[in-house]
Amino acid sequence: MQKQKVILVTGGNRGLGLETCRQLAAMGHRVLLGGRDLEAATEAAQALAADMVEGVRLDVTSPSDIDALVRHIDQKYGRLDALVNNAGIMIDGDLGHSTSIRVADIDAVERTLRVNTLGPMMLINAMLPLMERVDDARIVNISSGMGQLSDMGGNYPGYRLSKTALNAMTRIYAAELDPARFRVNAVCPGWVRTDMGGSNAELSPEEGVDTAIWLATSDDATRSGGFFRKRKPIDW
Ligand code: NAD
Repeated sequence: MQKQKVILVTGGNRGLGLETCRQLAAMGHRVLLGGRDLEAATEAAQALAADMVEGVRLDVTSPSDIDALVRHIDQKYGRLDALVNNAGIMIDGDLGHSTSIRVADIDAVERTLRVNTLGPMMLINAMLPLMERVDDARIVNISSGMGQLSDMGGNYPGYRLSKTALNAMTRIYAAELDPARFRVNAVCPGWVRTDMGGSNAELSPEEGVDTAIWLATSDDATRSGGFFRKRKPIDW
């Protein structure tokens, strides 16, 4: 029987985040389901499992939300075993804009970097003191094949840049944090049927979260500083 972990999932109110919370709670872990709207996060948490999942307010771009959450986790749990940086946006093509980099909407690119890359960086830094209290802490960054340099295509510059930078960030943290105490990894969930992935995507959310859950909880020899898809390392 695995030890119960305290795990924070960002963007937990729908899509891959919600499914991650559902499966982690079913495994017996204490889950903090982060959402920009506290009421929606609390409702989502209660619908999953009120005794195992707690909705918390967390806009990953908000330093005050992050500070308040650090204090809350410190007081209530005294530690954080795992952080799943799942929240993300893909807005390059919004408002009917072309997604070509040649006409990139710089505000959209900047906003995407704030949510997909700088938010996770602020959150990791804020949570590190709570994670340093556990022996085998996990940070799982939900990235994308669209950020893979070895398979880079055109279009969606904001999204692609944000995920390539998230991957680089994963390597930087893995290099700085003791691998005997921290495992920091990035994951591509595949193309999944969510609001972002659309209804034609090939994977269900249940399938899409498998590798992230494995990286967040498994005692298997997952190393630190890798990029994974379907539980296998992939090129950066
Ligand atoms: P989704 O749009 O259904 O969910 C995104 C979640 O992020 C939502 O809960 C939303 O509320 C939250 N969010 C957005 N901005 C936020 C902010 N500032 N603070 C906190 N939360 C915020 O999309 P999804 O498919 O579930 O995506 C989850 C993750 O998986 C994202 O990082 C996405 O880039 C990644 N991903 C998805 C696919 C796919 O095919 N669906 C493929 C590759 C990677």
